Amino acid sequence: MTETDAADRVDLALQIKESFKTVSPFIEKHTSIVCPDCKKVCCADKHGRYDSDDMLFLKELGVDCEQQTEGFDEEGSCRFMFEAGCSLDRWIRPFRCTFFFCDDLLKSIENDNAKLYRAFIDYFQHLVSLRQELLGSDRV
Ligand code: SF4
Ligand code: SF4
Repeated sequence: MTETDAADRVDLALQIKESFKTVSPFIEKHTSIVCPDCKKVCCADKHGRYDSDDMLFLKELGVDCEQQTEGFDEEGSCRFMFEAGCSLDRWIRPFRCTFFFCDDLLKSIENDNAKLYRAFIDYFQHLVSLRQELLGSDRV
């Protein structure tokens, strides 16, 4: 990899980080509506574990997210879940945490103001395509 390639990848990773920050308030608005009454919270420890794509993205930003699994129950509550919710900023969470929309969450989002909803979808797609560009494939 040339130096320019490396700089481009860091730049791309920084754009992805900013995109997470842009979409997050809209998602948080709706998780704060639906999640407090949830009967089956989705944040199991197995969902809070980084996959190789998460690691690739975060490595570009200098984050080492090697994770131990020993001593953690994959079906138990996620190690990052605290009383006030997830303790990680969205950009540093595994991507599946942002990509997962349960039916209630989806319904709540879809029922928001049409313009806001459209802007959110556009920006979310932008985030996904930046991530695909960084990962170099059609992975999400
Ligand atoms: S996103 Fe859906 S499944 Fe997960 S905690 Fe919120 S309401 Fe429950
Ligand atoms: S990292 Fe955060 S959002 Fe993801 S599963 Fe764990 S507590 Fe939930």
